Formats: sequence, C-alpha cells, structure tokens
Amino acid sequence: MKKLLIAALATTCVSRPVLAQETKTVVAAAARAMGATSLESIQYSGTGSVFMFGQAARPDAPWPRFKIVKYVTAVNYSGPALREELVRTEVESPPHGGGAGGFNPATGQGGMRPLLGEQTQIRQATTRTDSGRLQIWMTPHGFLKAAALNNAIATMASGRKTVSFTAGKHTVTGTLNDQNLVERVETLVDNPVLGDMPVEVTYSGYKDFAGVKFPTRIVQREGGHPTLDLTITAVQPNGAAALEVRENAPPATAPSVRSESQKIGDGAWDLTAAGLHSVLVEFNDHLVVIEASNNDERSNAVIAEVKRLVPNKPIRYLVNTHAHFDHSGGVRAFAAEGVTIITHEMNKPYFEKVYRNPHRINPDRLELSNKSAVIEGVADKRVLTDGTRTVEIYHVRGNLHNDGLLMVYLPKEKVLIQADAFHPRPGAPPYPTPPPFTVNLFENIQRLKLDVAQVLHIHGGTDSIATVAKAAGRQTPTQ
Ligand SMILES: [Zn+2]
Ligand SMILES: [Zn+2]
Repeated sequence: MKKLLIAALATTCVSRPVLAQETKTVVAAAARAMGATSLESIQYSGTGSVFMFGQAARPDAPWPRFKIVKYVTAVNYSGPALREELVRTEVESPPHGGGAGGFNPATGQGGMRPLLGEQTQIRQATTRTDSGRLQIWMTPHGFLKAAALNNAIATMASGRKTVSFTAGKHTVTGTLNDQNLVERVETLVDNPVLGDMPVEVTYSGYKDFAGVKFPTRIVQREGGHPTLDLTITAVQPNGAAALEVRENAPPATAPSVRSESQKIGDGAWDLTAAGLHSVLVEFNDHLVVIEASNNDERSNAVIAEVKRLVPNKPIRYLVNTHAHFDHSGGVRAFAAEGVTIITHEMNKPYFEKVYRNPHRINPDRLELSNKSAVIEGVADKRVLTDGTRTVEIYHVRGNLHNDGLLMVYLPKEKVLIQADAFHPRPGAPPYPTPPPFTVNLFENIQRLKLDVAQVLHIHGGTDSIATVAKAAGRQTPTQ
C-alpha cells in the first residue's frame, strides 16, 4: 500500500497539465527554437531504407526492407501541401515478403518481386484528406504549426514536455527535447487489419540549416515496425522548389464499390470488386468464398453479390490466401457475417490477436457486431467437400512471397486460384530470369500433381497453365 502511494505521488509530480496560456508559450518557444515561425516551405533529401507496410514475410515479422537511393520531400506550409519522391531498389536476394506494389504497364515494374532496377514512387499530400493532413502535421515544423491552430494542450511528463491536439478523428502528440526541438510525433490511425494503429516518427541529430533546425535522422514506425529510416543530407528552408508544391484539385469522390460476377463453372463464380477477385463456390447447403481482400467496403460488395447469386444458402467458410493486408483487411466483414475463416495455421494466433484490437476511429462491421472472428488453421492441406462439390486448399510450400501462402484448387473446373505468386505483365518484357515466387508456385503444382487448366489470379486475370509454366521457365505444363 505504501509503495502504491509513493508511486501515485511520483506520478502526480512528473505529469501535470499546463494551462492554456502556458501551452501557447510552450508552442511559441518551440517554434522559435526550430525556426518554424517564418518557415513557409522546406525541402529535405537523403537516403535510407523504406519498409513495405502490411507485406511481412510472416505474421508479426518486420515489414520487408528496400534501399532508398533517392529521397526528396518538399512541404509548402502556406498551402499546405507536401510532395514526396522516393526511389527504391531491392536489397534482398531472393526477396522475402511482398511489397512490389501494383503492376505499372507504363514502367513494366511492380506486381512481383524482385523489383527490376530502380522504382520511383511519388506521393502528394494535401489537407483535403485525413491521411494527407496527418502526413503534413507529422513533419517537425508542420506539427508546431498545427498545434498553434488547434487548441493544443501541453503536459510535463518525466521531464519531457508533450504537446497534444485533436482535430477530427485524430489526436496528434509531439514530444519536445530539452532544447525545445520536436523529437517525436505520434498518433493513431485506422487500419482495416490492425484497427486503431500507432504511427510514430522520431526526429534526432538536429542541425542548423540557414536558421532552421532540422533533424538529420528520421525514423517512422507504423503498426509497431519501421516503415521509413532516413538519413537527411540536405535541407533547404524557404526555397523556390518547395513553394511550388501546390494543392491539387479536390479528389473526385470515390465511387462506391460494386461487385460483378462471371460464371467459371456450374456453381462457381469469379467475383470482381475494386479490381480484386474473389471466388464463390456453391455446395449442397452452404457457400464458400475464396479471398476477402482489402477492406469492409469491398467485402460488403462481394457479400451482397453472393446473396444475389445464391439467396438461400449461408456462407460457411471464407478462405484467406495469406496475411498481407491487401488480402486480410476484408476478412473482418465476413467474420461479422458469422463466416468461419480458413487460413494457414501460422496466421491463426496473429489474426486472433490483432482482430481483438479496438477499431474506434472508424468502427467497422466486426467492431459493431460484438462478435469475435472464428478462425481455423490449415497446415498443409484441407479438402472441403459435400460428396458432389470439392474445394482443395493447399499450402504453397516454401514460397518466399509469404511463408503461410495458400492456393485453392477446383478439381471440377481444373482451375487454380492463386495470389501474388504470379502476376500477368502485359506489354512488359519478360524477367531476365524466372521470378522465384512463380517458379515455386509451378513446383508446388507439379509436386501435388494437380491437373490445372486455368490459373485465376486474385489481383486480376486468368491464364492458361502453359503461360504460368512459361513464366516459371518451363516449357511443358504439369508433370
Ligand atoms: Zn501478398
Ligand atoms: Zn496481393
């Protein structure tokens, strides 16, 4: 009891809210120390590492790392608007995990790793979107400018001043070091898989650049793992280039997601929604859906189309090919529908843990349903059958895209459903050597002696087995 009392007293001594007037003084003093007061724009550049969020090689592993060969960000605080240009290359050979991004026919890059040469990514942020606002506010000077405008509250905790403000659905908190420089900015954002997810950026190694203090090391973490690690080598305050960064036209309101279906056999349909594919298979008294993809909105569209196609049978199972976020963000909507989730057994404890995270920022269907996801793990193989219709689920053993990758075979149609081990690349020259994910997919088809005619890709397209064999460097299909 005595210990508890001392602990309570100690807490009250180190943490006390600062009065509103004092907060203004704290923010103004930090803005002066940082040179933020007269800062209209800034451009900073450097090198480092970028990590592909949501594309880990296995559950709970760090996001896959790529080398940054060029990094330039320009922020115009009078816009406000931000432009980030990042050029990345592979560091892993062979690559392990996802993160190639979508296939870009103009550059012939993306879709599958390894990335060929250098890949450029440009991101524009404005205050018109939630994520854009946060990106600008989480820059060291942007944080102080936003704190001054949003009724911030300053607190003293463990000898460190923190400044916190809430705007819309987000609370942003910055920590100042003993020289009044911003050393950390953090917030929570909504993520379809992880729920209310921490995003934190740490700033260190401050140097003076023409009267403006700027960090020479920036480390950003999202969902508990690094997403960016930068060494800043050049900073230009109030330069013409950064001032040129302007807000774009307002984004067109996103059309609501609709799902369309195409029959691939008797009692089997390919469902397209938001450019991603799911497959519906009809059994005697229930239905099975393969893949939910990225979020609630898409899953709701797919579920609506399923109910339209087969109104009188419940969906019993959803098969999830792997835990990458573009494949697992839509799982929760099916769980809310009372559907049992089938995934590789290595994902079961992970999904059970992260699907319990609060989703308070943007409550989704599962959060509102008060249900828990029911998850069943597959080790190597599982067959769903009612005696007439059969669906075979296999672990794609040894595939470096994801350690728990599953593929699904429909024996009646001779169709194999796969995610991310092969991407059609129309118009692009073939890889100099067959990509390891595709070679492995083909080896698994051969190992299992599956009689495959067509391969349906979750990210779009259907190819003959001969096309996949050719991409894997084999001229003859199966056996
Ligand atoms: Zn993937
Ligand atoms: Zn994918």
